[in-house]
Order: sequence, then C-alpha cells, then structure tokens
Amino acid sequence: MTKFSELNLNPKVLKAVEEAGYETPTPIQAGAIPPALEGRDVLGIAQTGTGKTASFTLPMITMLARGRARARMPRSLVLCPTRELAAQVAENFDTYAKHVKLTKALLIGGVSFKEQDQLIDKGVDVLIATPGRLLDHFERGKLLLTGVQIMVVDEADRMLDMGFIPDIERIFSLTPFTRQTLFFSATMAPEIERITNTFLSNPARIEVARQATASETIEQGVVLFKSSRRDREASEKRKLLRMLIDAEGDKCTNAIIFCNRKVDVDIVAKSLKKYGYDAAPIHGDLDQSQRTRTLDGFRAGELRFLVASDVAARGLDVPAVSHVFNFDVPSHAEDYVHRIGRTGRAGREGKALMICVPRDERNLDDIEKLVQKEIPRLDNPLNSAPASAAAPEPKAEPAAEEKRPSRSRSRSRSEKPTEKPETEKPQTETAAAEPAREEKPRRERRDRSGGRGSDNKVVGLGDHMPEFIALSFDERRAG
Ligand code: AMP
Repeated sequence: MTKFSELNLNPKVLKAVEEAGYETPTPIQAGAIPPALEGRDVLGIAQTGTGKTASFTLPMITMLARGRARARMPRSLVLCPTRELAAQVAENFDTYAKHVKLTKALLIGGVSFKEQDQLIDKGVDVLIATPGRLLDHFERGKLLLTGVQIMVVDEADRMLDMGFIPDIERIFSLTPFTRQTLFFSATMAPEIERITNTFLSNPARIEVARQATASETIEQGVVLFKSSRRDREASEKRKLLRMLIDAEGDKCTNAIIFCNRKVDVDIVAKSLKKYGYDAAPIHGDLDQSQRTRTLDGFRAGELRFLVASDVAARGLDVPAVSHVFNFDVPSHAEDYVHRIGRTGRAGREGKALMICVPRDERNLDDIEKLVQKEIPRLDNPLNSAPASAAAPEPKAEPAAEEKRPSRSRSRSRSEKPTEKPETEKPQTETAAAEPAREEKPRRERRDRSGGRGSDNKVVGLGDHMPEFIALSFDERRAG
C-alpha cells in the first residue's frame, strides 16, 4: 500500500496531513497525486467521500509552495458548482497549507465584491470560485486569468446538471493553454467526455470505485406509500416521515432529509419545526448567510435535522450523520447514491430510509438497477398506527395555521432542551389535535372543502364544483 511519504509531497504538507490524522492515501489520492506532481493533466472519476479534495489540494500546495502570487493574477483556480462546496475546498486548503505560506480567496455569491476585490488586488495563490461569480469578477475587469498555472474543475457532472458548462468552457478559454488541468467528475456523461477531450491534454485517468458499491455500512430501506386520498398525499407523507424519524428513536442523532424540490424543502422543514423537531432548510434560494448558519449549526451538532435539496447538500462533508431520509425518490438514480453517501461515512454505520409513492416506482427501479440490489421494503407505519394517529388529519383554516407559531411539544423529539425557543412555548393543544396545523396548499384545501371546516362541505357537485362557490363570502365580495 502506498504511503503519503512516498508521494513526493512537500514535507510541510506531509506534516499537515499527519496532523489531520490521515495515515494512508485513499485510492484517488494514490492515483492522482503522482501524475499531478509531474505536471500532467488528471481526469479523476471519483465521487465525494473518496478523498478527492485532498487529491488535488495536496499536490497544488506542493507545487504552489514555490513561487509568488502577482497582483490580480491568481496562480491557480478551483471551480466548484456550489458555494458550500467551494467553502469546503477552501477549508481543505487551510488545513493542508497551514505550514506553507499561501494566500487564497473565495469567490462565491452572497459575499461582498469589495472584500474579494481587495484580496485579488493583493495577489492570491489560490482562487476558489463558483463559475458565475468568477465571471462576474472577470467582467468587472478586476481579475486576470492569464497567470493561472493550475486549474481544477470539481464535480463537473454537477456543473453539467446546473447548466454551468458554457461558463466552464469560457473560463477554460480565458486561461493559458499551457495550464495544468485537474478535472473531477463522478460520472462521465457524453458532454463531460466532450469537455475533457477538448480541454485536457493526455490526462492521467484515475477511476475509483463508485460509492454505490462501497457503502456497505449503510442500512437501507424504502416504504412504499399510497395515500388514502390524492389531496392528502403531501400531508400524509410528512406524517409518515415523522413516524419514521420517531421509530429510530435515539439512534437518530442527526439526519439529512432530502426533497426533490426546493419548495418541498421549505414545506417539510416548516412542518417538522411546527411539530417540535429541530429542523431547518437549506437550498439554493436561501441567502448565503442563512445557508452558512444552518450548515454550521448542523455540523456543530446544534441542529438535528437538515432538510435539503440535492444541490445544496452535494459534496457536503459532515462526518457523523446517523440517518438520511429521502422524503422523495430522487429522479436521477445517481443522486440516490450521493444522498445516502452523506451517512455511513468514514466506516461509521448509517441508515438511509426512503418514501416512495406509486408514481416514483419507476425511479426506484432505476436506483435498484444502479446499486445492483433490492432496497428492503419496510412496513408502512401509517398502516399499523393506532386509529387516532393514522386517521386523516383534521382540517383547519389555512390562513390561521400558516400564521400560527409553533406550539407543539408533545412529540418525542420536542422535549429536548436543545429545541428552538419557539417549540418551548406552552402547549395548548393535544397531540391528536396537532395535525390540524399541518400546512396544505391553500388551493388544494379550498377545492375540496370550500376553505371551510370539513363539517361544512358543499355537496352534490361532484368534482366539478365551480371555483367561486369555494370562496368565502368576503372573498366573493372582494373579487
Ligand atoms: P472528500 O471526498 O474530499 O469530500 O473527502 C471525504 C472525507 O475523507 C473528508 O472528511 C476527508 O477529511 C477525509 N479524508 C480525505 N483523505 C483521507 C485519508 N487519506 N484518510 C482518511 N480520511 C481522509
């Protein structure tokens, strides 16, 4: 087995690696570091969790330790698809370059241009950026890319998903063609293949085992769930999620809950909070300071449930995540592997549970083909719940429930002293009445019940009730 000391890394880098507690290089590190140090282009086909970040940061620091930065001309460039990933790469540089004098700047949205400009003006060895923000700086005339000797593209397949490939091509064309390129992608889609053929020169290709085959420490399960009524699917699914969380008890120390859509990230986070679970959302539409705060809280163990979209959670390295809940079946099978890879890291045990509604069964098939095994089917706890818990949620006036602050304390998670203040409010409702607070899309409710309580139904019109009948008297008068 290769040792770090055999890789020709700068002794100061080796020292930092030792201090980080790493004993042996991971396969992507053992494969990528030697050609990178020889100045060759590298094509790394590796996912997050394989140690790929160090596979480019360690040789970069070794190479950059010689020479000095010039004003406005960064010597190296690392492109990442998301701000979080960029921040994580920056942290890696801090860790491994702590005994070497290197300057770096992080160019990501949500951070003021002024501060970033000042750093660039002074000259930086490493510029870590998301593509859009980098081009913004370039277009403002504050940045020259002609001094870039090493360029890294991290998570290229995610860049493709996010529509960044034209930006990447443009950035490639702004850097000198003599640059060294280190290019990483979890998969090789045809478009990625085309980019690598165009911009990499005779790269050393290192492919490491997919996480799908490596994640033996993750226990998986899926609940096939069919709602009692289509218009109740969303709220029943949220109830099912709560039951799955509760069933894990104290084993669930923290969890990432994935939703396919940003809007559901918000709804699920809000709903969990309302039921007394310590949850917060993270997705691309939230402002940067909020995203950073949420993530820091989750990393520090102060936040228990992170409700996330794929993009926001991609590549995040939180070493001890006990559970992943897939509130939705991801529509790309690859995403399932990324999602569940957030747990069971570094040889720890992890558990990944998923809810699958009938229309997602095809996606479930695709996932099972990809991971080459059947994901065990779990009983739907909603079916075996006592009548009171499994009964349809009583309805409430939507306007009232959306404005009402969280009051619920009676669920199992809510008694902990770490809960947010709003869950500490005096409990005024019984557990059985709580589901009335579950949010539902307003229209959905109105269509069915005329925006009134369920006792006050308009009957005899079948499904074709004219919309105006559903309006309240005041709304009709106003409209
Ligand atoms: P990455 O794939 O870069 O996101 O890294 C995944 C995790 O592996 C991070 O927590 C790293 O700190 C850790 N790691 C990186 N290299 C090694 C190594 N050689 N030995 C043990 N852990 C490592």
